[in-house]
Amino acid sequence: MEIQFGSLDDDVARFTLSGVTPAFANAFRRAMIAEVPTLAIEDVRIYDNTSALFDEMLTHRLGLIPIKTDLTTYSLKDKCSCEGQGCPSCSVTFTLSAEGPKTVISSDLIPQDPKAVPVFDNIPIVKLTKGQKLVLEAKAILNTGKEHAKWQPTIICGYKNQPVITISDICDACGMCVEECPREILTVKGKKVEVIEGKLSDCSMCRLCERACVATGIGEEPAIKISSEPDRFIFVVEGDGALPVKEIMQKAIHYIKEQSEELESQVREISGG
Ligand code: SF4
Ligand code: SF4
Ligand SMILES: [Zn+2]
Repeated sequence: MEIQFGSLDDDVARFTLSGVTPAFANAFRRAMIAEVPTLAIEDVRIYDNTSALFDEMLTHRLGLIPIKTDLTTYSLKDKCSCEGQGCPSCSVTFTLSAEGPKTVISSDLIPQDPKAVPVFDNIPIVKLTKGQKLVLEAKAILNTGKEHAKWQPTIICGYKNQPVITISDICDACGMCVEECPREILTVKGKKVEVIEGKLSDCSMCRLCERACVATGIGEEPAIKISSEPDRFIFVVEGDGALPVKEIMQKAIHYIKEQSEELESQVREISGG
């Protein structure tokens, strides 16, 4: 297995994963989405709400606010020493008190832990008109996207096979495929068509170029052919800011490794060693 990064920062990673099966690529994608824990608001105690939004709508909106998560500080509730009771090691409490006229935003949530703040401080929660009030206490806990989408650390997490474009000698450089390509990745150079350097990974494998080539009357087989590498995948992963993308990837790999070891030991146990 090999990972080659095209770009990597805290929010977005573009990389090629090679030497793996489609099943592994998909397991990696699913682990990043659903098995890496983050903090999200789960319980809300509303003391006063005279805003235009129902309590349920408000709590739903609060739950979707991404919160910066330090996985060295917090643990999952069911693995915490408090045995699920809720303590500062598995939950963080926010307080909010606001009176209109004003738009209540995410920075109005005051956290008990100054490190566990909303990722963005200007997410609108509700608009209060003059005299309207909102007073509440919200508790965020660590959980995974498997339980609810609000705990997913990624907003984009997908892959496609590495495209392969071959152009045979029967190409007469008519340029029809170049005009048809919606991603503008082909060009006519001399007496042949070719892929513009660095653009191959942009190919969506739509095969419009193949169809355009056949439509020129070249024969039943097009001069340009689109296929893909079965064990090479182009990934794009974008986080919601709760965790750096690199940490999401590391935790997902760690999860797959742990699960594989567990499966191996169970199989060994069943088969008597
Ligand atoms: S498959 Fe689609 S995107 Fe790729 S080169 Fe052909 S027309 Fe362009
Ligand atoms: S349409 Fe076919 S023949 Fe024309 S340039 Fe493209 S590959 Fe070559
Ligand atoms: Zn606890």
